[in-house]
Amino acid sequence: MPINDLLTEIEAEAARQLAICNACRYCEGLCAVFPALQRRTLFESGDIGQLANLCHNCKGCYHACQFIPPHAFAVNLPQILSEARFESYAAYAWPRPLGRLFENNGVVVSLIAALGVAALLIGVGLAHAPADLFAARTGPGAFYQVIPWGLMAGLAGGVTLFAVLAMTIGAFRFWRHTGEGGPATAGAVRPAALAAGDILTLHNLGGGGRGCNDKDEGFSTLRRRLHHFMFYGFMLCFASTTVAWIYDHFLGLVAPYPFFSAPVLLGTTGGIGMMIGTGGLLWLKFVTDQAPTARRLLGADVALLLLLFLVAATGLLLLCLRETPAMALLLAVHLGFVLALFLLLPYSKFVHGLYRSLALLRDRRERAASLHAHSKG
Ligand code: SF4
Ligand code: SF4
Repeated sequence: MPINDLLTEIEAEAARQLAICNACRYCEGLCAVFPALQRRTLFESGDIGQLANLCHNCKGCYHACQFIPPHAFAVNLPQILSEARFESYAAYAWPRPLGRLFENNGVVVSLIAALGVAALLIGVGLAHAPADLFAARTGPGAFYQVIPWGLMAGLAGGVTLFAVLAMTIGAFRFWRHTGEGGPATAGAVRPAALAAGDILTLHNLGGGGRGCNDKDEGFSTLRRRLHHFMFYGFMLCFASTTVAWIYDHFLGLVAPYPFFSAPVLLGTTGGIGMMIGTGGLLWLKFVTDQAPTARRLLGADVALLLLLFLVAATGLLLLCLRETPAMALLLAVHLGFVLALFLLLPYSKFVHGLYRSLALLRDRRERAASLHAHSKG
């Protein structure tokens, strides 16, 4: 029976379980979700969106709970909040019809990755005679002999701009939706600084120092460390691409660059970090206790992690073999995966980083308003 007719089925079930938690309060010290819960008396759709994206899926409340199935209350917060999170990604997506890409997301990610690679491979194959395709190329401009600079820059620039626009609109929708009817928020600078610290250190994944229930009821910080590898690995790869763009546009230095150059060192370190992070998280997906997880979302999680892993792995392989006859095909495969990743940024679980960051910011602002109200009271 829905608590509120305006809620979706998943939101209504989340609201039912959250109402039980609000009465029970046994887990209030476990994470930021429970204090945020207590600041609310009603659970509107925006509140579910905020709480679901504030949850970092540590599973601590599941292992602490006396009301998990088969108890009649059937509380399983990590599972229902995962479902609600995923549903919120589709609701905030822009353009809205593309939010449907979140359905069967594992299949969609795999298909677009395959299409991206196939399109680049076919294009490169058609543009070069076989002898030319497998010729070893060295020196500045070697990559552009395979795929012209204009095409490469146009594709990358167009897809990146679209992804940034779509994610900005999604972020705006999230912020407006989660603010409707929620508790008061206050302050701008200090809450933003505290939220930035939470985001950059993945503070909540530390579980207050003892870690999370990564695999079972035991505590570990493995998931936090793997997220660090993946997050900073991705940021280093992004920095590598930016530095390469500056080299090319402003310094007249054309790729490929020597190993001991800023773009290659940043890209190599980042690529290794991404492979460790995504590979480890993939492994964790399969060895973790499945009861507190949303099984139907496993495909989407796995597909994105695999895509990130393949972007990093093909980039490093290209670096190792860039002066051999395999370079042209490896370049097409790597760029195909990169293209698919950037096309999918707004329509894959990648957006959880964005919404989670905003949820942490809203949480810090709510906490500041609550402290202010208490100090005045
Ligand atoms: S998860 Fe269970 S134990 Fe924890 S607050 Fe909710 S109902 Fe209580
Ligand atoms: S899974 Fe972890 S982060 Fe999510 S509500 Fe439970 S204790 Fe909080």
